[in-house]
Parts: sequence; structure tokens; C-alpha cells
Amino acid sequence: MILLGPPGAGKGTQAKLLAEDLQIPHISTGDILRQAVASGTELGHTAKDFLDRGELVPDSLVIDLVRERLKQDDCSRGFLFDGFPRTEAQAKSLDLLLAELKMPLRAVVEIEVPEEVIIDRIQKRGEGSGRSDDTVEVARNRLEVYRRQTRPVAAHYSKGIGVKQVDGVGSIEAVQSRIKACVSL
Ligand code: AMP
Repeated sequence: MILLGPPGAGKGTQAKLLAEDLQIPHISTGDILRQAVASGTELGHTAKDFLDRGELVPDSLVIDLVRERLKQDDCSRGFLFDGFPRTEAQAKSLDLLLAELKMPLRAVVEIEVPEEVIIDRIQKRGEGSGRSDDTVEVARNRLEVYRRQTRPVAAHYSKGIGVKQVDGVGSIEAVQSRIKACVSL
């Protein structure tokens, strides 16, 4: 399953709950990249500047890290992506990867939140998250990157499996039940 949506839409929070419920791993490429930066690996050194500016890390790096992650044993029953794919090239690579693994895509959900709400949330989150990209300035760039590069991902899936749109405004529980109501996994 894939969770799409702009930065600050609540993908991480919702994905974590859903993955616990479904007992499948929650794969957040953002978390993996932040960990790589924190532990000073080669991937982390390359990724740091992109993360700090709110730009996307090059596709080849992200695709390689996802390919490696999917080889781990805990992925044999399925997995939930949060923050991946973020470009059409990533979506196409994921199609190939899933075909190789003989694992069908079961659902694509897009969490929708108006921009003013996102900026407000990121501003509040920035105060406590410690994330270097949770500033209003970087948030605006992340939104712009989302519009330019990630929007086409929804179009990629609407040609095939289809994208379920969920209203992301409301309590964590309310949004969670809206997501569950539109996926039958
Ligand atoms: P996130 O935690 O999903 O908001 O991701 C934080 C940052 O990590 C993004 O602003 C990008 O710099 C980078 N990132 C995460 N996922 C991807 C991806 N699929 N492709 C490229 N860059 C990514």
C-alpha cells in the first residue's frame, strides 16, 4: 500500500498506526534518509543537503535504498510506503520492483489537506520535531516540490489501480477511520 499526500498531511502518523494494525512494516524513505544523515553514512552525506533544502534526493539513491529495504524478511507479507514514490520515475521503478517480487499493489491513498493548514501544522511541528526542514521557508519549498514533482505520481496510479482520496483535516482517529473505510486489506 502507498500513502500519498503533501508534507504535513499526516502521512507519517497515519502510516504508523495503519502499519501496526495491519502488522506490516511502515517504510518511510524520509525516516531512512534522516537516520542515514544522523549516523553519518555515505548515503547520509549525499542526502543531507537535499533534506535541508527540502529538495528531493536523487531517484537512483532512493530506489536503491527501497530495493534493499524490501529484501528484508519483514517485508514478505507486504509493506506500507510513506513518502515513496515521490516522482514518476520512482513510481515506474516501484512497478518493476513489485512485478519482480510478484507482490501486487493493493491500495494507493492520498491524504488531502489545504495549504494554509499544512503551513500552520509544520510551523507547530517545527517547534518540537527537531527536523531541520520543519521551518516555514523550507516547508514552502517542500510544497512547491510536491506540486511540481510528486503530483504526477497520483496521475500515474489513477491510470491503473486508482487513487482513493481522503480528507486529512480532523483528529488523528477520524482520519485513520476514513483511510480504513476506503481500503479493504
Ligand atoms: P519526509 O519525511 O517524507 O517528509 O521526507 C523528508 C525529506 O527526505 C524530503 O524533503 C526529501 O528531501 C527526502 N525524501 C524522502 N523521501 C524521498 C523520496 N521518495 N524521494 C526523494 N527524496 C525523498
